[in-house]
Amino acid sequence: MQEKDVLHRFLFDGLAIRGEWLNLTESWQAAKQYHQYPEAVTQQLGEALAAATLLSATIKFDGNLIIQAQGDGALKSLVAQSTNNREIRGWARCDDNISGDKLSDLIGAGRMVLTIEPEKGEPYQGIVPLTGDRLEQAVETYFAQSEQLKTRLWLFANAHQAAGLLIQELPADQESSDQEDWTRIEALANTISKEELLTLPCAETLHRLFNEEPLRLFAAEPVSFKCRCSTKKVESTLLSLDRETVNEVIQEQAKIVVNCEFCSKQYQFDKIDIEQLFSSAAIQTQSKTRH
Ligand SMILES: [Zn+2]
Repeated sequence: MQEKDVLHRFLFDGLAIRGEWLNLTESWQAAKQYHQYPEAVTQQLGEALAAATLLSATIKFDGNLIIQAQGDGALKSLVAQSTNNREIRGWARCDDNISGDKLSDLIGAGRMVLTIEPEKGEPYQGIVPLTGDRLEQAVETYFAQSEQLKTRLWLFANAHQAAGLLIQELPADQESSDQEDWTRIEALANTISKEELLTLPCAETLHRLFNEEPLRLFAAEPVSFKCRCSTKKVESTLLSLDRETVNEVIQEQAKIVVNCEFCSKQYQFDKIDIEQLFSSAAIQTQSKTRH
């Protein structure tokens, strides 16, 4: 039986190469339940979520990892996030006239922005052009350019599941990987099929791929869908807007409605809510300036 909603890390002993295996089933169903996208876009979102989850396990601190693809095609924007606790969410924006199924067909000329938001400290952002057909290539380019780490990943998604496999050389301060080892492991990993990744348990897949390699498999880490939107976050977004603009919307529509792009939750503010929000923010600013 397939292992669902887990990430497994693995390590090739003595080869300075690590890996990750991932399955998203219920977390994927939960993440996409709020959205109605064409099939090809749903597949891209599933793959992007798998990529964000795999990459979130490569960062060493608490925080959030965001993959964002933007382009001039019918698929305008694709956003996938995972926290270090493997809480995932995502959304896409597209026109109705979608054609093709590769990322390059859908998104046109574009770029991938990879943002790492640590809980403490400044966010870090890396940008790479979307040059290949698939998201994998952009992620691999990012690691080669920004981290100087050889990385390969394989992503698959359908309406029911999303899955991924990643191999990466260890950072040079640990052990440097031998080119021959890397070439051999990469060639073995490259024999993975969509069918295997979506239907077989982790240990069985890794045995099929790497049965003669010194592989150490670590315990499963759970993955779940969770939206982190809140009234407080929406309020701080409203406060960052120009007060005049906010007032104009209130005048015209009697209320401000904000929909969370990830989970479609609706936040509503009427005239009184907005007045209270801005006046309490003003008081806080005053008292901060005074002290
Ligand atoms: Zn939400």
